[in-house]
Amino acid sequence: MVELIVRPFSFFSRRLYTEFLPITKVRLGCFILTELYDAAVVGAGPAGSTVARVLAENGLRAVVYDRRSTVGLPVQCGELIPTPSEARDLFPNSQRMPQAVQVPLKFVTNRTRVIRLISPNGTPYEFSFHANIVNRSKFDQYLATLAEKAGAEIKLNSLVKKRTQNNELISQTNRIESRIKATIVVGADGTHSVVAKSLGPHFVHSEIDLSPSLQYVMTGADVDPSVVEMYFGGKIAPGGYAWVIPKGNGVVNVGFGMRRNIAREDTPLRTYLKRFVFKTLASSLMHAKIESRVGAIIPVGGPLKRTLLGNVLLVGDAAGHVMASNGGGIPTALCGGEIAGDAITNHLENDDLLSDYEKQWKLEFGKELDTALRVLRVADNVMPSDAITDICMKLAGVRFLEPLIRCRLPVPVDLASKTMVKILNQFI
Ligand SMILES: Cc1cc2nc3c(=O)[nH]c(=O)nc-3n(C[C@H](O)[C@H](O)[C@H](O)COP(=O)(O)OP(=O)(O)OC[C@H]3O[C@@H](n4cnc5c(N)ncnc54)[C@H](O)[C@@H]3O)c2cc1C
Repeated sequence: MVELIVRPFSFFSRRLYTEFLPITKVRLGCFILTELYDAAVVGAGPAGSTVARVLAENGLRAVVYDRRSTVGLPVQCGELIPTPSEARDLFPNSQRMPQAVQVPLKFVTNRTRVIRLISPNGTPYEFSFHANIVNRSKFDQYLATLAEKAGAEIKLNSLVKKRTQNNELISQTNRIESRIKATIVVGADGTHSVVAKSLGPHFVHSEIDLSPSLQYVMTGADVDPSVVEMYFGGKIAPGGYAWVIPKGNGVVNVGFGMRRNIAREDTPLRTYLKRFVFKTLASSLMHAKIESRVGAIIPVGGPLKRTLLGNVLLVGDAAGHVMASNGGGIPTALCGGEIAGDAITNHLENDDLLSDYEKQWKLEFGKELDTALRVLRVADNVMPSDAITDICMKLAGVRFLEPLIRCRLPVPVDLASKTMVKILNQFI
């Protein structure tokens, strides 16, 4: 069998090529024609759709695969995106971040102004933080549509099973297998990325860095629509936190993320969430009804050491681009997607190094992601004991708790966490 790689001829515009050759693999007697793309993106989440949009806008031939039949569904997200001005404060080194998190008004269901932290004994600490609560599935669909309108092909219901060493992707749609080849492959396929796995064990998130999470969307809740609440405590969310995010009109997203290696009890996730909803939040959710329930895994081990190998790069959750201390990954998925799109374009058109991708994301949000991981490690020292968590939150007060939530680690907190917890542990 002879394999012919189909390339666009120079006199063919890329769009004409797309229209004339829509079949990914054609068998002609003893020949197989394998379609060649400039870039193949696995995953149509915010990261993947953004990479594909940038590539297509720059005239490159891009295809996106997603195993889901509808982009963005089911929603596995609290749907909170910091406003552009908060994003500027969170990631001061990124010029593009404020623009990247700009969500069109029609996808914003609520705006929150305050974050309230609640310590295990119920003490509240609150500060100003502005966020857009979005309709995530519609927002993800919008991002995919932008990519498609720019000229990228979106293939849904298409599970990518394998990436071969020479950048072929083997995918399956309705039990039919197909194979394409791409100059560049982008892994935007989330926590359990198939593309990352194909690069070797160093590109896979380790088990202890995964935070299982579970959430309900509930209607009929009696909550302040301007306040996002984060609850801490070993019985509520060991190694993580539980959240109440108001979506407007009495709808709330209530959920939690935890870490098994920090947990003292081997309790099923649904028991934690039921306890939180029906005991801790009993008064405000007394008349609320559970409309949907979904679980997912958040990678909280910080960015992978390497997010690029040869002609393959990783973006979004696949790259560990998540703020480890709060699990937020939409801003960095959007911004990292743009950086990847630009780097691939400059590589293919101007021969720039593909590794510029890694340089650029480190410049724009690498320091903040590293600090968020250090904040999580500080919390790990404190959280195993509710009593110590209460004391530390009281001593820190809003003055120091606020920067921690904003992925900053004030020096006194860093120093105190190392010595004080050791001392407190002897008394408690
Ligand atoms: C419960 C929960 C709550 C969260 N809340 C927030 C929040 O409020 N704010 C925030 O900023 N972040 C939040 N996050 C994190 C945020 O959702 C992610 O960081 C973000 O979605 C990352 O985007 P992504 O494009 O990298 O990956 P994803 O959005 O996960 O997209 C990956 C896509 O790849 C597809 N895919 C995977 N494998 C394959 C395959 N083999 N073949 C084809 N397609 C494949 C999937 O179907 C999916 O569509 C939350 C996460 C969870 C789990």
